Amino acid sequence: MREQLVLLLQLQTSDVKVRELETAVRELPAKLDPLRRDLAKLQSMLDAERAKLAETETWRKQQQDLIDREREALKSAQSKMQAVKNSKEFGAASREVESKRKSISDREAELKKVSEASSTSVAQLDARDKDVASVRGELESSEAAQKGQLDALKAQLAEALAARDAARAQVDKQWLRNYDSLIGKRGYAVAPVIKGTCQGCHMALPPQLNNILARMESIEMCPRCGRIVYRKELLEPAPAPAAAPEEPKA
Ligand SMILES: [Zn+2]
Repeated sequence: MREQLVLLLQLQTSDVKVRELETAVRELPAKLDPLRRDLAKLQSMLDAERAKLAETETWRKQQQDLIDREREALKSAQSKMQAVKNSKEFGAASREVESKRKSISDREAELKKVSEASSTSVAQLDARDKDVASVRGELESSEAAQKGQLDALKAQLAEALAARDAARAQVDKQWLRNYDSLIGKRGYAVAPVIKGTCQGCHMALPPQLNNILARMESIEMCPRCGRIVYRKELLEPAPAPAAAPEEPKA
């Protein structure tokens, strides 16, 4: 029975390992999600700013066209002024020329401001482009590293599954059924007893049962949680203190 207990414990240990590795394999790819989200956010901000800049550029070209047209109008107003016949006409023509000049100079002043702001934005966007590229580089190298980790984890998982299957093959069918049903109901099936207390449910076992466990002649269940129990000190003896003097050998 001692052997079956040891095998059940081995099975439990390898089951735990399999579950841990399965969780790790499942959760690893999501670890880079925050970085991916940051990158997407930065990229979309950058795209929005670029779109705004393109709009400004369109507006700037329209303004430039308007200025060109106004210059044409100014020219014709100026030639009209050349051809005036009296002072009344001259007054009107000269007011027209003046107003066109002012309109052109106002528009040019505004255009200059906008163009200056645009070139500042272009410089800023170029700097941001570099930041985004560096975050992307970071993500790519992390992804490459993660792929290595994931491959290693999968290899460990394959090993752990093989060890688990080997352990299952050695346990008696009868105990295997018990073990599986306890896993389903309790999460884990085999619990140590320390100082007479089941570590699965923290109930003090009846002293008689504790004595039976000491003999290791049968496999017993905890009356409360139903787990297969064993006395911890019998299967997992505490390591001897390092400083303990060696007993003289006979
Ligand atoms: Zn118990």
